[in-house]
Amino acid sequence: MKELLQTLPKVDDLLKDSKFASLKSKILKPLIQEVLQSLRDQILSRSLTHLSLEEIKNQILSLYAKRTQSTILPLVNATGVVLQTNLGRSLFSKEILDEVFPLLLHYNNLEYNIKEGKRGERYTHIKHLLCTLLGCEDAIVVNNNASAVLLVLSTFGKDKEVIISRGELVEIGGAFRIPEVMKLSGSKLVEVGTTNKTHLQDYEEAISEETSMIMKAHQSNFKQIGFTSSVEFSALSTLAKKKGVIDYYDLGSGYMQGLCTKEEPSILDLCKDNPSLLSFSGDKLFGGPQAGVIVGRADLIAKLKKNHLLRALRVDKFTTLALEATLRAYLNEELEKIPTLSMLNLSLEVLESKAKALHSLLSPLPSLSSQIIELNSLAGGGSLPQTPFASYGIALTHPTLKASELERGLRERAIICRIAQERVCLDVRCIQESEYPQIYNALQEIIGESNAK
Ligand SMILES: *Cc1c(COP(=O)(O)O)cnc(C)c1O
Repeated sequence: MKELLQTLPKVDDLLKDSKFASLKSKILKPLIQEVLQSLRDQILSRSLTHLSLEEIKNQILSLYAKRTQSTILPLVNATGVVLQTNLGRSLFSKEILDEVFPLLLHYNNLEYNIKEGKRGERYTHIKHLLCTLLGCEDAIVVNNNASAVLLVLSTFGKDKEVIISRGELVEIGGAFRIPEVMKLSGSKLVEVGTTNKTHLQDYEEAISEETSMIMKAHQSNFKQIGFTSSVEFSALSTLAKKKGVIDYYDLGSGYMQGLCTKEEPSILDLCKDNPSLLSFSGDKLFGGPQAGVIVGRADLIAKLKKNHLLRALRVDKFTTLALEATLRAYLNEELEKIPTLSMLNLSLEVLESKAKALHSLLSPLPSLSSQIIELNSLAGGGSLPQTPFASYGIALTHPTLKASELERGLRERAIICRIAQERVCLDVRCIQESEYPQIYNALQEIIGESNAK
């Protein structure tokens, strides 16, 4: 054991080794120490009985690579869930990014008034586009929709009462719960109605001197069926205006236009009723960057701007530029620039031909059985939870590899898919055809490895 310990190389010698010449010594030194310490421990615990200098150097090299390489990888989304929060929600199109990139390479007037030569307002750019598109009075953008809800509640609900239906006290993924956000904002929650039914009269009876707002929250990720009723936002808005309180709709997904669905209320339609305040996510059905967009009455937006919390929730230039480009795509009716909508709108014929192409690419793979199947994709991101989007895909089985082993092999090679009925299912809706060779290569490797065992 002692002999083995003595064969461990010295840190300084390793630092001078030509194999590490291109590596940065500031990072390298502690990594060498870490590797040597681990080897020392292994020798002392007798789990290591043989040592080669070459192996030690390789260990150091691979640790260096592991610590300095990006851990964020591009993934192939074969789940059929278009807005997968775990996989980054909305994608950007090249067209949108081409509009954004040049502006990131230069200084810009995000917050500079060129005409007056002094500080400007970062929200004006977005505001103009939103007002043109939606006919609202004013608009502001924050970090995400959770921030938007917090900002609105803490500005108008602090130490006051906010009325909301019991059926809308929802939890959205990532532990965002409406009652908790209300508490955080200092608003007093006044629940009305029951879990399944809430009537306009329930709201009316709950309004008091202390009421600042009637809030409606989109139920997002779940759907109630059966003996249920809720009040349309337009009716709440009318009631609130009559009683002199604020009406606020946390719309969640932010569906603008471009889908064949009656399930999801459209921002365009909702804005026709002039809501006092309405907020939505930038990266769900809207199909833009992560952001929380708040539109509504100018006097209320002005108050939001005075809340010091806004400084902590403000958006950066990338978000502003990406949101601006997305809004312009809506204004110019260039919905093909918004991949979320394009993927949800893929026709069955296109999906079938995508599946056929993947199927014929994979069929030469030995011992893998692949079959074209019908699947249902989902919008995801808490939108349209009960709306299946008919799709096509490939089901894979292997005589010796279990579905879970195939799935893990694919996942470890950056391809994310589902298992159904002991088969690995690849929904082609969100897979780009340029990603097909990656799937082929991954499967070839997985099968090769299993044969080698
Ligand atoms: C998704 C969602 C939020 C949170 O939005 P983020 O942009 O993810 O912060 C809030 N409210 C509702 C109703 C939602 O669906």
